[in-house]
Amino acid sequence: MDTLIRIGMAFSIFALMMVWEWLSPRRTFALSRKQRWPVNLGLAITDMVIMRLTIGGLAYVAASMAQEHRLGLLQVLAVPPPLAILISIIVLDFAIYCQHLASHKWPWFWRLHRVHHTDLAFDTTTAVRFHPLELIVSMLYKAFVVVLLGAHPTAVVVFEIILSSAAVFNHSNIYLPERIDHTLRWLIVTPDMHRIHHSPIPAETDSNYGFSVSCWDRLCRTYTQQPQNPQTEMDIGLKAFRKADELGFNNLLKLPFQTLEK
Ligand SMILES: [Zn+2]
Repeated sequence: MDTLIRIGMAFSIFALMMVWEWLSPRRTFALSRKQRWPVNLGLAITDMVIMRLTIGGLAYVAASMAQEHRLGLLQVLAVPPPLAILISIIVLDFAIYCQHLASHKWPWFWRLHRVHHTDLAFDTTTAVRFHPLELIVSMLYKAFVVVLLGAHPTAVVVFEIILSSAAVFNHSNIYLPERIDHTLRWLIVTPDMHRIHHSPIPAETDSNYGFSVSCWDRLCRTYTQQPQNPQTEMDIGLKAFRKADELGFNNLLKLPFQTLEK
């Protein structure tokens, strides 16, 4: 059930952001959508099928088991459900920030995560461009954190909805006036903030790891306020992968097993 709620919410936000970026785009694309969208959406469908057939609901199952058997810190301490839900959401969000940081620092993990960063443009569809193995690793890690923490099952559902909605929002190509962007950034990750993370300049790629709230990057000193080049002109992607015709669906599936280049 939690998967259905999450998928329904994700589809609604996805469609909304696509309409928004079509009506009010932040940047114009040099690259045709025909070259990117089938690849990104193809990966999204593949990921959905693989996760549905394998461990898509593992974090929720882990939370239910932790609750039933009183496993994990919050269960052992018998923290009341409203507070336990709030703490679980905050801790899970920080855990995902740490995971994202690790996916850039650990070479084997970067092999998986770089698939996401090879997109040569940045829009709503970039949010779903992930190698299926990265999603499997991510789900195993989430389930581990859930059991360790004793996260409440409701918190897992709410967290997954927040995470997928935030990812679709902060990858979108929507125009937000600078004043609104700056105000929102005190609390949440905006598209202008996350776009910097998709810059091919290493100092910018290695910053702005947060997905939902902006405080983790500020607290952990990984925050970059502005890119070196203007937001509307900065390059997107990785220096080693500049040719769209070499970044097809099949090549991306094989990418983690090829020579490591940043
Ligand atoms: Zn990244």
